[in-house]
Amino acid sequence: MNIILLGPPGAGKGTQARILVEERRMKQLSTGDMLRAARNSGTEMGRKVAAIMDAGKLVTDDIVIGLIEEELEKGSEGGFIFDGFPRTLAQAAALDRLLEKRGQSLDAVIEMSVDDDALVQRITARSTCARCGEVYNDISRPVPADGKCGECGGSEFTRRADDNEESLRTRLMEYYKKTSPLIGYYFCKDKLRPVVAMGEIDEVAAEIRAVLEG
Ligand code: AMP
Repeated sequence: MNIILLGPPGAGKGTQARILVEERRMKQLSTGDMLRAARNSGTEMGRKVAAIMDAGKLVTDDIVIGLIEEELEKGSEGGFIFDGFPRTLAQAAALDRLLEKRGQSLDAVIEMSVDDDALVQRITARSTCARCGEVYNDISRPVPADGKCGECGGSEFTRRADDNEESLRTRLMEYYKKTSPLIGYYFCKDKLRPVVAMGEIDEVAAEIRAVLEG
């Protein structure tokens, strides 16, 4: 099964992707994580995209399509979860082509919707375990009182450079201008499955499960 998690920054795409990976042995392909890894390892591409990412703008289609193509070549028995990709119509068309070339297709596009006010609150309070990537939130899901990650026991937590109010506003604007047209694109292809992602993590996971099994 191949699915896309589509939604604005802070909708919980990464969190839900991790749950699906555990439950269904799917492979998560997060272009945001790939770009951050490229930055951290200091590759030329990583240096090129750093300032664009910090400002909250989208990096060029060629770069992210190239990253996805490389990962698709490695395969995945349980299929792929596209998290944060595609973000433009050109990326969506490229994904269609890449899957078709492999005799595959998309099964569903989960559109995760969250109120804009809640997005700002979620993002500005977000931190991530440096060891395993588990996501916490100062208000709704704080780091355990012993200061250790509940998943892996790691004790270092980081905040993303672009998780501040200013870049979030740019990221939201990019989403509405360039990514939200994908909602219509996938609706017309009869792939769109809307999920209200305002509830607790487990509730949203249950909704997604119902959609995928329905
Ligand atoms: P994310 O972790 O998905 O929120 O992505 C973080 C940042 O990486 C975005 O704000 C963009 O600068 C860049 N990025 C991630 N995925 C894409 C994509 N599919 N297209 C363009 N830029 C992307």
